[in-house]
Amino acid sequence: MQEALAGELEVDLGAIVANWHTLRNRHGADIAGVVKADGYGLGAVPVALAMAGAGCRHFFVAQLQEGLALRQAIGNAPMIAVLGGFPPGADSGAGLTPVLNTPQDIAAWAAAPRQNAGVILHLDTGMERLGLSAAQRAELPPGVLDNAGLRYVMTHLACADDPGHPLTALQVSRFAEAAGAFPDTPRSLANSAGLFRGLTSDLARPGCAAYGINPTPGQPNPMRQVMRLTIPIIQLRDVPAGTPVGYGATWIAKRDSRIATIAAGYADGYLRALSSRGIGIIAGRPVKLVGRVSMDLITLDVTDAGDMQVGDRVEMIGPGQTPDEVAALAGTIGYEVLTSLGARYRRRYLGAA
Ligand SMILES: *Cc1c(COP(=O)(O)O)cnc(C)c1O
Repeated sequence: MQEALAGELEVDLGAIVANWHTLRNRHGADIAGVVKADGYGLGAVPVALAMAGAGCRHFFVAQLQEGLALRQAIGNAPMIAVLGGFPPGADSGAGLTPVLNTPQDIAAWAAAPRQNAGVILHLDTGMERLGLSAAQRAELPPGVLDNAGLRYVMTHLACADDPGHPLTALQVSRFAEAAGAFPDTPRSLANSAGLFRGLTSDLARPGCAAYGINPTPGQPNPMRQVMRLTIPIIQLRDVPAGTPVGYGATWIAKRDSRIATIAAGYADGYLRALSSRGIGIIAGRPVKLVGRVSMDLITLDVTDAGDMQVGDRVEMIGPGQTPDEVAALAGTIGYEVLTSLGARYRRRYLGAA
């Protein structure tokens, strides 16, 4: 196999920056870059560097290791908050900002020597996942975080992508009340969907929208697409009507057919649930995935797609078949499609200029 015949993931940093500006303008106040899970699968470091170049001064990651790696790459100036928190000192002086989620977190950080990077307090208002419950808030010793350098109080919305869901308004009012106990502390509220619900605060935390996922499901996507995954054809074959293709022989040619085999599979994060459902785009034309997705290979029915040859590339996810559309076919969400993108693709970053 020639070196060139590998899947290629192209990430348009310029489009990510354009999305970041769209979000910034829409919010009318600071927004953070949310680059957890390796920047939603697209590369936390290049994405964060591009956002920092556009003026982003706050980043969120999920885990300590992600924060340490990001700090090395982007220098000391931006805030890097770790949503899952970490014990005092565990960042070895990297200046990461922990999100405190429990009374134990608070006690540990209140007792630690004050860090310049400060802390963020997570008030749970209805997600029931992380953050202080109302009962835990009621039991906080007054002034417990006075010396910890409290930078933000935050909450996280559970249902902002569903315009009809009553929990969003309830969370907003619970947050206003809970944050009232910290009158001088800036607030951080909206995710991508919340921002498009018009919810503002001192610092929004939009993730998916920056990466082109529609923050307003069911309505036109206001964001630009930022990625394209193309997979090369590594074999073409003509099969007579009646021939089964792939594991389990689940697809049988109804007519004489031309099958293209391309060099990616579920090991690359192309979900096996897309067996017999996925779509590829060849030279602007859609072609159907036939049979099962294998670990390293996918088969497509290209009978009606015109001339092609080994080495031609098929777009499997991209502007012609967006992460949201692929997710709909697979019974999941665009977030999972992006964060599943595999390690074997050659990655190419288009400039942020
Ligand atoms: C992932 C996450 C976000 C970003 O959410 P999107 O839906 O991707 O905009 C914001 N805040 C917290 C706490 C998160 O975990």
